[in-house]
Amino acid sequence: MRAHTNNPKPIEEAEGGITLEAFLLLLDKVQKHGPNYLARCPAHDDGRPSLRVAQGERGILVNCYAGCSYNEIVKALGLRPQDLFTDALTEKSRDEYRYRAVLREIQKLEITVWQCEHDMKQGRMTESDMEYYREKIQELINRRNERDDLRRKHGFPKND
Ligand SMILES: [Zn+2]
Repeated sequence: MRAHTNNPKPIEEAEGGITLEAFLLLLDKVQKHGPNYLARCPAHDDGRPSLRVAQGERGILVNCYAGCSYNEIVKALGLRPQDLFTDALTEKSRDEYRYRAVLREIQKLEITVWQCEHDMKQGRMTESDMEYYREKIQELINRRNERDDLRRKHGFPKND
């Protein structure tokens, strides 16, 4: 038998996932238990709180002492399995991955451009080499702009 929660409010979705506060509102008999929480498990007829809820690094961690699976628990709450994972989905962490990738691209482009300029000084540039060079310069400018935009947006440290 599925215990139902008496929370008719729509799930408040944070950017990329539900917050711990919003998640706790979906549960019954929530009590603080050290740094974590205990609540009635929504996936089985739970007489006493046997669902442990904790804030993990990448989202909300749930564990039913009676043995309900993660999928059973989120489904009983009307959530999708991915809804408890916040970290990988937040805009800031997406941008952080992008930022690191952009830094790597900038490094590669700088080497390429430097090599082209070296060849140019040696007089070894053909017309198609020049075209390639101009393309790479443009790409480098674009990536640097993207890097600066991400820095301004999130205050990422200048570590390149
Ligand atoms: Zn359970």
